Amino acid sequence: MYCSACGREIVNESNFCYLCGARQTSARAYYRPQTRLERSATDYKIAGVCGGLAKHWDLDPTLVRVVWVLLVLFPVPFVPAVLGYFVCWIVIPKEQLPVYVAAPAAAAPGAMNAQPR
Ligand SMILES: [Zn+2]
Repeated sequence: MYCSACGREIVNESNFCYLCGARQTSARAYYRPQTRLERSATDYKIAGVCGGLAKHWDLDPTLVRVVWVLLVLFPVPFVPAVLGYFVCWIVIPKEQLPVYVAAPAAAAPGAMNAQPR
């Protein structure tokens, strides 16, 4: 296959071009990793329910929020949006963010012997 950004040949079914780093959309459509339904810890307005659903369904989070607000304003029978949000908030686990550990500061030459004043 060929990179969609730089046009150079890369390994078939690559998610990213290893020459320019561009994400390969055809590979993304071909390989969709199984995602667990979780409330988003980074993309949220209230509790991350719409952000988590959008990530799980691979949709735009804003679109999911708009549909949810429309369901709140114009309720469809048997789709209680407000109650559904709270049920999702309680039932769907929150996404675990990766923990970043600060790398030790690079020691300057002679820093090992430096004494604080
Ligand atoms: Zn490329």
